[in-house]
Amino acid sequence: MTLDDLHSQLSPRLLEPGQAGYDSARVVWNGMIDRRPAQIARCRTAADVSAAVNYARSAGLSVAIHSGGHNVAGYAVCDGGIMIDMSLMNGVRVDPNLKQAYVEGGATWGDVDRATAPFDRATPGGLISATGVAGLSLSGGIGWLRGTRGLSCDNIEAADVVLADGHLVRASETENPDLLWALKGGGGNFGVVANFTFRIHPIAPEMMFCAPIYRESEADDILPRWRDYMATAPDEVSGLAEFSTIPEDPAYPKETWGTRVVALAAVYDGPAETGEAVTQPLRELGTPLLDFSGRMPYTTIQTLYDAIFPKGRDRCYWKSTYLKALDDRIIRDITAGLAKRPSDMSYASIWKFGGAVQRVKPDATAFGDRAMPFMLSLDAIWSKAADDDSNIAWVRGMWRDMQRHSTGRMYLNFPGLGEGESLVRDAFGAETYKRLQAVKRRFDPENLFRLNQNILPG
Ligand SMILES: Cc1cc2nc3c(=O)[nH]c(=O)nc-3n(C[C@H](O)[C@H](O)[C@H](O)COP(=O)(O)OP(=O)(O)OC[C@H]3O[C@@H](n4cnc5c(N)ncnc54)[C@H](O)[C@@H]3O)c2cc1C
Repeated sequence: MTLDDLHSQLSPRLLEPGQAGYDSARVVWNGMIDRRPAQIARCRTAADVSAAVNYARSAGLSVAIHSGGHNVAGYAVCDGGIMIDMSLMNGVRVDPNLKQAYVEGGATWGDVDRATAPFDRATPGGLISATGVAGLSLSGGIGWLRGTRGLSCDNIEAADVVLADGHLVRASETENPDLLWALKGGGGNFGVVANFTFRIHPIAPEMMFCAPIYRESEADDILPRWRDYMATAPDEVSGLAEFSTIPEDPAYPKETWGTRVVALAAVYDGPAETGEAVTQPLRELGTPLLDFSGRMPYTTIQTLYDAIFPKGRDRCYWKSTYLKALDDRIIRDITAGLAKRPSDMSYASIWKFGGAVQRVKPDATAFGDRAMPFMLSLDAIWSKAADDDSNIAWVRGMWRDMQRHSTGRMYLNFPGLGEGESLVRDAFGAETYKRLQAVKRRFDPENLFRLNQNILPG
């Protein structure tokens, strides 16, 4: 495949520097990332993807795969290589059996929710509608339905994948089951997913979104009570404790602007009325400064946070670690570390795990060990390049400090800026990593797909 061949396959959707649309197509969510691919292949079909892969391989170019562009390390775009832009492949079709949805490899969670919710169905996605289905689910996928339906990757039933040799194969329980296993947590290491089949589940027409907001200065008292509530809450309640600072925004009362807070956000996967009663204790753990709780459709819940995470505007560095426990001492260590965050635009969250996530056997998917009760995610966000060092240093310093409370593993969808092989190896654990290497050797022995949380063929 030559560049001329690729032009004739994709024209006019093969963009090069200087062409209209090139600069907007290379923007990713993290405003720190400013890379210039030699070509951007805006694919519409698996055949387009195959042509782009064949050209990249024969020209010795690096390959970046872009779906939602939310990967914080900026893996969706590269300097000088080819960017396979999947965002035009965003179709979603719901099977009339209402058990499966067929999702193209560049769809976002908004595309999926808009297609499934009218039938009172959903598959577990993330919290932001613009996040790509592919990036999020291939490395796990943690959202509001995890307690009842597990991770996003647990709901992948099959995938059509363009491999490094340009061939299109199916990964399912019966065809290439090792590839299906690897796609459930192993990231974009094995090929470009052109289509997914997701299992979909019944949802209530309205659900309870619970969001009391307490002062961060009270977190050492409130969080132990949140932990105790979450320990006995039913699987229907998926929640997290989110630290942030109230922005100077007319959407919030002026007297609260600049206050550092912790929101005890939770969603009840079931009838809103039941959810309201079940989550009521979260709203009575102290005196909330604000309370954004309410009954609403799932699609509204899935877009609630969109406006606070705009694409390409802010600079960010996010990194996570799984916690062994959340005893009072660990809570105090967390709040002490968060008090030092340099930017009031930053977030940090403690995500509770349990329920359906932990009912999947550790070796059933490449996501690996699921025993962690909590995840701490440190999400530094700031606006000026001059503040890069202080913000990155804060996350790295606190992340290192938290390792004494960690299971030693991290969630690879919050990958820092891509922190090297040993971190990826540790995140999977030795057994899973070894198994992933075998799949990598089979499907991408030359490591063409390496702009990701990379698994070395070995
Ligand atoms: C604002 C924001 C909110 C987030 N919220 C959540 C959340 O609630 N829950 C959660 O679990 N995570 C969340 N994340 C993290 C998110 O899961 C990762 O950033 C993920 O990589 C995003 O996927 P994407 O498709 O948008 O990313 P992209 O940057 O487009 O892709 C990331 C990587 O995924 C792989 N990839 C993408 N498309 C394909 C494909 N079609 N085939 C094969 N590989 C592919 C590639 O390796 C690529 O480098 C959030 C991130 C952001 C920025």
